Amino acid sequence: MLKIAFSPIYRYPLPDGHRFPMIKYDLLADQLLYEGTVTEENFFHPDPIDEKWILRTHSSGYWEQLKNLELPARQVRRIGFPMTERLIMRSRVIAQGTIDCCLYALKNTVSLNIAGGTHHAYHDRGEGFCLLNDFAIAANYLLDNKIVSQILVVDLDVHQGNGTASLFEKEPRVFTFSMHGAANYPLVKEKSDLDIALPDFMDDAPYLKVLSDWLPTVIEQIEPDIVFYLSGVDVLKTDKLGRLGLSREGCKERDRFVFQTCKNYGIPVAVAMGGGYSEQIKDIVEAHANTYRMAVDVFY
Ligand SMILES: [Zn+2]
Repeated sequence: MLKIAFSPIYRYPLPDGHRFPMIKYDLLADQLLYEGTVTEENFFHPDPIDEKWILRTHSSGYWEQLKNLELPARQVRRIGFPMTERLIMRSRVIAQGTIDCCLYALKNTVSLNIAGGTHHAYHDRGEGFCLLNDFAIAANYLLDNKIVSQILVVDLDVHQGNGTASLFEKEPRVFTFSMHGAANYPLVKEKSDLDIALPDFMDDAPYLKVLSDWLPTVIEQIEPDIVFYLSGVDVLKTDKLGRLGLSREGCKERDRFVFQTCKNYGIPVAVAMGGGYSEQIKDIVEAHANTYRMAVDVFY
């Protein structure tokens, strides 16, 4: 059965006017239930992750400051959320959710986390709405426990996966592939194993051509045991932060292509959501919902 990580703690109230659309998590779960793409049985509630797995990926100095709410104000501003105990707990639950999704995917082809994809978190700091790097924590968990020996991160959020690239720069067992807007944040990019920087306003056909040129080649070259897919929907032309020009349909085809390619090669996929900042919340939720619809369509 399809397993989807979701927890009441994913809801996190933000001050009025905050630019992060936190409500999308709730709305997405409701939409998927309402339309019948999933039922309540598909959802599971992850536990907070054991701190030892946080410390496997993040520095103890950073984690201590984070959990004691003692991060310097400058670093808090860089992350972009007001810090509370609940926010830290939320990040722990999301990180465990991504690990659980990997384990479910390895058993049963695909599993998705309704949150996560916090790819801007580094070893010793967070930024861009990211506190803990869930993909990195999950990758280290799977490798240390000898559950897999090769991981491919496919990061299609419009922003480069700078934290993930930096964390695995010297780790050949995690291949980082990022397709992102060349002119988007972060302005100074890290070096992924494969970076494809795309021009402003690139729309569906050329985007899908680049993806279809590269993804199968990378899979054949890397032969991963699992794909981590970061399915950010800030690639939409309606996005306020992203500079690409995908239509909703193009974004949906992107998701279908990733799932279908993984299925063709017999590789399990764990999905985390990443960003989405369109003006209209319906554009965000609909595009994220398409990721779930495509997962069900391709694998079920
Ligand atoms: Zn993003």
